[in-house]
Amino acid sequence: MIEIPESKTLSLQAGNNLAGKRITVVTPPTSPHKYAFFCGDPGEYPDLLKGRKIQSAEGHGMFVDIHCDENVCITIGDGTNIRLCNPSEKRPAKNQLLLVFDDGSFVTFNVAMYGGIWAYIDTFDNPYHQGSLKSISPLNDGLDEFYFDNIFNSTLKNLSVKALLATEQRIPGLGNGVLQDILFHARIHPRRKKATFSDSEKADLFQSLKSTLKKMADMGGRDTEKDLFGHFGGYSTLLSKKTVNKPCSVCGNLIKKEAYLGGSVYFCPSCQTL
Ligand SMILES: [Zn+2]
Repeated sequence: MIEIPESKTLSLQAGNNLAGKRITVVTPPTSPHKYAFFCGDPGEYPDLLKGRKIQSAEGHGMFVDIHCDENVCITIGDGTNIRLCNPSEKRPAKNQLLLVFDDGSFVTFNVAMYGGIWAYIDTFDNPYHQGSLKSISPLNDGLDEFYFDNIFNSTLKNLSVKALLATEQRIPGLGNGVLQDILFHARIHPRRKKATFSDSEKADLFQSLKSTLKKMADMGGRDTEKDLFGHFGGYSTLLSKKTVNKPCSVCGNLIKKEAYLGGSVYFCPSCQTL
């Protein structure tokens, strides 16, 4: 899934590797997918996208926006995989969108469980996308302790820390994936209630949020997610499906997994206090 480190990584890679390419062939979805979302009828994407030249890419929250000339934009959301392929690679038979460029290279867009591939002119009328564009990223200095305290203090006391940080998109692109290591470094259990936090625990959580996301982004995303070239990110997750039932890197106790608030949480039962 695309969260803050991956939208940053994908947008940097797309900006460096796609800008300047002109789209020559557009193949709409070849395999129907109930949970692949588009702007209008993707059958009309060739009319919109063919001949467009890619100019830049921007990552924010759980989105990557690929800007083309004539104010045309392609936005992908958190469950969409995008992959750049060399001219010599075989074009896959199944995809949700395929763009071929004037140099013969091509990008494929695929959706695993659910995801969006939205192509449009000017503005994407989607509240999450609009909210994400207007928000301050934790990778930016503007998201400081004062800003974080405002989010923390303006929510209900009985919220758990997972509900606070990884639901409602209070910090766009901070999802259940990156949450796990943020909480591990802050030594806080995902079910921990907000009202029980001391000032120093709140400060630790803020520091971990900033430093963990920066490290993930600097290393090209998490090792559970793939980049534009189909490679896993360089950040080794401490708590994820890859480390469940393995020893905690600090104390050696086994990492546990539980279902909580619409997704799995991972934690070390001795390092993270409830
Ligand atoms: Zn531990």
